[in-house]
Amino acid sequence: MQQFASDNNAGMCPQAVAALIEANGAGHVMGYGDDRWTAQACKQIRALFETDCDVYFVFSGTGANALALAHLTRSYHAVIAHASSHVAEDETGAPEFFSGGAKVLGCDTPLGKLTPEAVEEHCGIMGRIHTSRPKAVSLTQSTEMGTVYRAAEIEAVAAAARAHGLKVHMDGARFANAIATLNAKPADLTWRAGIDVMSFGGVKNGLGAGEAVVFFDRTLSDEFAWRIKQGGQLNSKMRLVTAPWTALLNDDLWLRNARHANAMAQRLATALADAPGLRLMYPVEANAVFVEMAPEVQTAVRAKGWAFYTFLGTTGCRLMCAWDSHPETVDRFAADVVAATSRLLNFSTADRLRRI
Ligand SMILES: *Cc1c(COP(=O)(O)O)cnc(C)c1O
Repeated sequence: MQQFASDNNAGMCPQAVAALIEANGAGHVMGYGDDRWTAQACKQIRALFETDCDVYFVFSGTGANALALAHLTRSYHAVIAHASSHVAEDETGAPEFFSGGAKVLGCDTPLGKLTPEAVEEHCGIMGRIHTSRPKAVSLTQSTEMGTVYRAAEIEAVAAAARAHGLKVHMDGARFANAIATLNAKPADLTWRAGIDVMSFGGVKNGLGAGEAVVFFDRTLSDEFAWRIKQGGQLNSKMRLVTAPWTALLNDDLWLRNARHANAMAQRLATALADAPGLRLMYPVEANAVFVEMAPEVQTAVRAKGWAFYTFLGTTGCRLMCAWDSHPETVDRFAADVVAATSRLLNFSTADRLRRI
């Protein structure tokens, strides 16, 4: 049964599985990335971003973010990020751990997006010897709230960072979903907008494991291979991660998968938007729908077998679509949410009236 808890609950897409089987059947192959699939995946990523970037593969998104940020900072530095970001909230201190102490400073700015003003504000403490010194900014595209940064917004944040000598990292676990929404060139939303290093996610978009770390500023990637190895993130059977990547990057499959997930989120949002008692919390710009649902409605929907996360407080629910979400599943889920809402709301209205 398909669910709405996370896009990482979905399996691998068939083309990625086929590539995995093909690479697996090739017999013995040199390890640690010295193979044709890894070379091909790096080449495809360079073509995709229209630049001669340095590309590495690690096991997880946390590994990609933590190692990239550790490479940009020293132990007494700070990373400015959104307060709800994965690096601030969901990595068990991995960026702090791998950097040996760099502190993540959270900004509680609207819609999950950093602003130049928030960056400026944190940079105000730059000269104070008693506080961690800002050295990097990390922004998430698409954001944890399912919104997307426009190119101009990224440029503005990056310009503020650069003005204070900060490097700019992008957590692109769901970068594909942002590109699918904006119909933009990947280069225009990354290095041309001022991104130095990026964690480029494939897992939520149809792979089984392995995220890419892409250095657009190649002067920053010196010795990064050693950091990956020390961090336990160097895959010996690299081809089994990179062969599926080659499939994902072939024929715009990464974009088609993301477009599908986004379309399913739009379908879900449309079905919920007009139902009395439900309120969408953020514009739906990627593959997540955030909706305010009373706790008793959530209980009723879960009792029907559905899974989703209560993400913000006790009522803010995150409904996540994936590359493989079926339209019929979306419709059934939406109908159950709408029905539970109207049933319980009517009951409580009647109950209230009775008491008056
Ligand atoms: C899923 C996700 C990651 C990666 O998480 P892992 O579980 O470590 O692979 C990173 N950033 C964001 C915004 C994510 O949603």
